[in-house]
Amino acid sequence: MSSPVINSKLPNVGTTIFTVMSGLANEHKAINLGQGFPDYQMNEELMNKVSEVMQKGWNQYVPMQGYMPLRESIADKVEYLYQTKVDPNTQITITPGGTYAIYTALTTILQPGDEVIIFEPGYDSYIPNVEINGAVPVLIDLKFPEYKIDWDEVRKKVSPKTKAIMLNSPHNPTGAVLTEEDILQLSSIVKGTNIFIVSDEVYEHLIFDNIPHQSILRYPELLERSFVCFSFGKTYNCTGWKLGYCISSPASMVEFRKVHQFNCFCCHTPSQVALADFLKNKNAYLSLSGIMQQKRDHFIKLMKQTKFELLNSSGSYFICAKYDRISDEDDRDFAIRITKEFGVATIPVSVFYKAGTDNKVIRFCFSKNKETLEAAVERLIKI
Ligand code: PMP
Ligand code: GLN
Repeated sequence: MSSPVINSKLPNVGTTIFTVMSGLANEHKAINLGQGFPDYQMNEELMNKVSEVMQKGWNQYVPMQGYMPLRESIADKVEYLYQTKVDPNTQITITPGGTYAIYTALTTILQPGDEVIIFEPGYDSYIPNVEINGAVPVLIDLKFPEYKIDWDEVRKKVSPKTKAIMLNSPHNPTGAVLTEEDILQLSSIVKGTNIFIVSDEVYEHLIFDNIPHQSILRYPELLERSFVCFSFGKTYNCTGWKLGYCISSPASMVEFRKVHQFNCFCCHTPSQVALADFLKNKNAYLSLSGIMQQKRDHFIKLMKQTKFELLNSSGSYFICAKYDRISDEDDRDFAIRITKEFGVATIPVSVFYKAGTDNKVIRFCFSKNKETLEAAVERLIKI
């Protein structure tokens, strides 16, 4: 018997690098500084709350927009952090993770042939999300090695077909962050156009050195044309929960919900009920940047003993490093070899470029216990 043949919607896509490198790390018992997730326990109070509300019977569907008290808590948090009022009823939808929020936003707005401006290196789901909708990614390199946006190039690449610009700050994989000047440039480009912004802000609370996070939510005029996407997994050290949310204008949210309600309908109830309450604890999210900054600084200090040359990271839980003093192998071969031979898994940054641009840079994830980082660097010193 033979199966029917699928005319692939994503013919050029394989298994994601995160799955590949974590698989290789397990196989070779390597320390995994590749895929981005903490190796320490999440907040105990939040875990207990989830189990409590399950016991109390919060185990059936909530409305497809999400549990209302959670949306209200999010609106309060947005007002507290960014001084913008958003309506929990019409502007917030709870989603199964940030990736899903981004995919749904793009699916909501894109028609075949539309163009979406995407900066590279960029998170690996963006291009397939655009292509599966029959739209066309228009790629712009961030200026290496600071990974800044060249706004003149953006101006040149905007066309009558431009439907959206994808933003991501703090940025995966580089740790670069947008400045107020970037937002001014962006505003001047989109003003008076029909261009949407899809802003991936899953690392909003992972920003260092007292730099303020330039959320689109600070700018009500930009929010009118934006879908702003968040992830509880990043904020509360529970990437496996796959819970997040999207905020947009009321008109855009009507369309977003049309797509969402026939894809997943609604998200995991007990986590939403627990988070509705836990979100009121400001310290739980405000303390995160300090904790992560300490990890970054400790890792930077340890890495001075190696031949790697770290690049700057102002946010996220990633830091990139050049290895051209060690090897001229391409970054994928290098990352695979050091996983196998030295027992440390990383992510080659070329995977975040459609054309595989190889600047001899790999990405380290530092959201790990001190002991894990120290054990990894012990091994990296030997390279
Ligand atoms: N965007 C970026 C830049 C990310 O690094 C991640 C983390 N995987 C996501 C989106 C997705 O978050 P989630 O796991 O909530 O889908
Ligand atoms: N965001 C994580 C990273 O960049 C991984 C997400 C995933 O595995 N899809 O490492």
